[in-house]
Amino acid sequence: MANLVAIVGRPNVGKSTLFNRLTQSRQAIVSDEAGTTRDRQYGKCEWNGREFSVVDTGGWVVNSDDIFEEEIRKQVLIATEEADLVLFLVDVNNGVTDLDMDVAKILRRTKLPVILVANKADDNAQRYYAAEFYKLGLGDPYCVSAISGGGTGDLLDAVVAKL
Ligand code: GDP
Ligand code: MG
Repeated sequence: MANLVAIVGRPNVGKSTLFNRLTQSRQAIVSDEAGTTRDRQYGKCEWNGREFSVVDTGGWVVNSDDIFEEEIRKQVLIATEEADLVLFLVDVNNGVTDLDMDVAKILRRTKLPVILVANKADDNAQRYYAAEFYKLGLGDPYCVSAISGGGTGDLLDAVVAKL
């Protein structure tokens, strides 16, 4: 699939919320592909005349407290094989976790463009904490609020610039 953007990250960081937000920005396409798109968790997004596909990797892992970290690492590797660009989501309220560090290590080894996304930055106070994520070694974090859509315009500008 050409121009495929994969959303990766720990459970509960907001991958599916961001997927819904990005894919709903093109309502017609979503309804055109009703059923299959949702079942396979692939969707389409258009921004500034550029169209690309988005995959929510959350469906590939069991979303539970017992999740094996090894399984998340495996799914990140699958995502990097399939995708043209990776959105690595972290939760701005949680700080950098060990699993974030592990995923970042895998992503730093790929040749793919990776965009670090600090989600749940619902207000300016939370944006302050995003600075901590520089230590993941993946550049500037984009602060977004997937739930409200805040910051997603700047993020999409970066996505289409790097695709
Ligand atoms: P996933 O497991 O990574 O797919 O995460 P989900 O998309 O299922 O979201 C996990 C939880 O975080 C849900 O309760 C969401 O409503 C919440 N969430 C997602 N994005 C945001 C956000 O931008 N701000 C806030 N406050 N909550 C969010
Ligand atoms: Mg999910």
